[in-house]
Amino acid sequence: MARLTLQNVYKRYEDGPKNFFGKPLKLNDYAVKDLSFACKDRSFIGILGPSGCGKSTTLRMIAGLEKITDGKMLIDDICINDLLPKDRHIGLAFEDYALYPPLSVYENLAFNLKAKGVPADEIKKSIDRVAPLLKVDELLDMKPSALSGGQKQRVNIARAIIRQPGLLLLDEPLSHLDGKMRQTLRQEIKRMHREIECTTIIVTHDQIEAMSLADTIIIMKDGELQQMGSPLEVYDDPVNEFVAGFIGEPPMNLLHSVIVKTQEGFFFSFRGSDLRIQVPRRYYSVVSDGMKLTLGVRPMDVFVTDKASSTPAPVAIYENFGDERRLSIRVGDYHLNLTTADDVFYKSGDIIRLEFNSEKTHLFDAETGAAIKYPENT
Ligand code: ATP
Repeated sequence: MARLTLQNVYKRYEDGPKNFFGKPLKLNDYAVKDLSFACKDRSFIGILGPSGCGKSTTLRMIAGLEKITDGKMLIDDICINDLLPKDRHIGLAFEDYALYPPLSVYENLAFNLKAKGVPADEIKKSIDRVAPLLKVDELLDMKPSALSGGQKQRVNIARAIIRQPGLLLLDEPLSHLDGKMRQTLRQEIKRMHREIECTTIIVTHDQIEAMSLADTIIIMKDGELQQMGSPLEVYDDPVNEFVAGFIGEPPMNLLHSVIVKTQEGFFFSFRGSDLRIQVPRRYYSVVSDGMKLTLGVRPMDVFVTDKASSTPAPVAIYENFGDERRLSIRVGDYHLNLTTADDVFYKSGDIIRLEFNSEKTHLFDAETGAAIKYPENT
């Protein structure tokens, strides 16, 4: 159990951060910039973001494996900036299991406790407590080479929690596993977290993993925190265009539009298309004629309608996934995706009419990408 606080934390690597292709970024660029957040005791935090956004650097700084360039990190109000990793009372499990091959699972679990001089009967008690939590109690006599990927990762996590850390740090623990195994282990990690009540941080690029495990999500981009909130908050109320497009599968439609005022009210218009979509009335006090905005709407909030008042648009792609159909509709320079559970069939070129769930549309400033809020009770 522990509270973790990061205050204005920066990290600049000596040889500078690299971009996705391994090319150095600007020398004065930071891998992590002005990062501040607080994790409540016993919370489960998921750090999510694209490759290179600084997720692992953040976790490694918390673990004490990387020195911070500036800022302050506290565990339970104690500054840990200069504490050695072993003194931070942290459990770590990384993507690769790094189990000791010649040792049995039991010996792997016992290793750190033995090195600290913990008596054998206490080590046994600890292993008896932790092994069933991660379902490794049947594997204790086996060597790592005889284990599947999922079993190795279970042992890896069991080893991380055996010393009852205040803070458990998991870096992409499921990324080597296949789909079914990921789902099983995900559920087990969730159950384990409930039982051990240990503040846990998981770093992942997989939003399903983060959304299903964590009670709080931190989304990062280019070393900066974009949004911190519950899975529902970041899904339903993204603070900017980046978060809106990053969270959700299939991703939110983000269409650049210009507001047009007519006698019937305000409409979104799109370059190269006749399609006009009525601006929801709650936004009327914040839009004006000629304003450039990005309209965000999730594929499940776009519907095919037979209302003659809506503008027709052509189907570009139709896909049938069995449980849902996906349509891509050409809107000028863009494609607007919609998903439906209805058993419909369209072919490319079919003309359909669209309707949006106006309650679920989002507006973003075309230049800054920041979400545009509407006054409450309108
Ligand atoms: P991924 O999901 O691909 O693991 P990430 O979000 O965890 O990415 P980091 O590994 O934290 O990202 O990297 C953030 C930035 O810092 C990247 O630009 C990366 O190239 C750079 N970086 C990471 N480690 C080092 C290092 N040891 N030396 C120099 N630059 C580094």
